[in-house]
Amino acid sequence: MRPSIFFSKVATRAAWPVTRRDRGTAPLVPPVLCYHRVLPRSGNDKQQARYSVTPAQFRAQMSVLASEGFTSLTLREFSGAMRGLRELPPRSALITFDDGYNDNYALAWPIAREFGMKLNLFICTGLVEGENIEVFERRTISEKRSEEDYPALWQPLQWSQLREMSAAGVDVQFHSHGHENMGSLSSADITADAARGISLFKKHLGFTPTYFAFPFGHYGSYPHVARALLAEQGIEIFFTTELGRKTVEDKQTTFSRIVIHTEDDLDSFRRKIYGGYDWMGTLRKLNYSVRGWLSSDQSTRWSEGS
Ligand SMILES: [Zn+2]
Repeated sequence: MRPSIFFSKVATRAAWPVTRRDRGTAPLVPPVLCYHRVLPRSGNDKQQARYSVTPAQFRAQMSVLASEGFTSLTLREFSGAMRGLRELPPRSALITFDDGYNDNYALAWPIAREFGMKLNLFICTGLVEGENIEVFERRTISEKRSEEDYPALWQPLQWSQLREMSAAGVDVQFHSHGHENMGSLSSADITADAARGISLFKKHLGFTPTYFAFPFGHYGSYPHVARALLAEQGIEIFFTTELGRKTVEDKQTTFSRIVIHTEDDLDSFRRKIYGGYDWMGTLRKLNYSVRGWLSSDQSTRWSEGS
């Protein structure tokens, strides 16, 4: 288990009695869960690929949401609620998947539907187009093994699958074209990346995306300038992978998401949906700021998502 995940689990468990937010009435923004892949374990030692949960884990998590009365929201429903145009159910959550691999279609979607849960996808249009995207080319040993065992699940989603999902109510939205850290791109490169991806949305799906999940999503990867440039191209709401929800009244346009890891058991999953990890956002922001002061190397970050 990665040290940062181990620390988070221990710290949130210890702090749970005072940080739990499943009893209060404060109108907090619903938890936005961030997944990447649903993949079976692979290889002789049954390892789990990075940024994935097993089908059994995903099924158990969807079951918790359903049995504890959570309504899953589409991004459109979520943004309506954030603008005061619709009431939120007493318990609601968003289930989002990043990047755009076939397991989202082949495994995650059927499991979610079993429990009446809606999915939202943030797709990297360059991945769907079959381009060589550096971050996806670099594979760990466990990822290579997973791809050998389950080649079909490692195919990018096809536009026809995305059209089918979109027509069936899955909100398909944007996760950049080239999956680069926008904190290190020039303004011209950010604009070009967004324009390329948005033109592919129009061509293949027939609409312009309005929601955007930043690649990586940690502090430093979603600068204000990038949000301003993306807003010029029609993006209205942004998502990161930092922690810490605000109240609905804050009228923000950038929202945190909580990454679900294979290390999550059902107890830590419950803490994630009931706000037990929210306070860690402050800690991570402090950690990022301190590292920034101590070093000019902004790459030394406590990275969560991809
Ligand atoms: Zn990503």
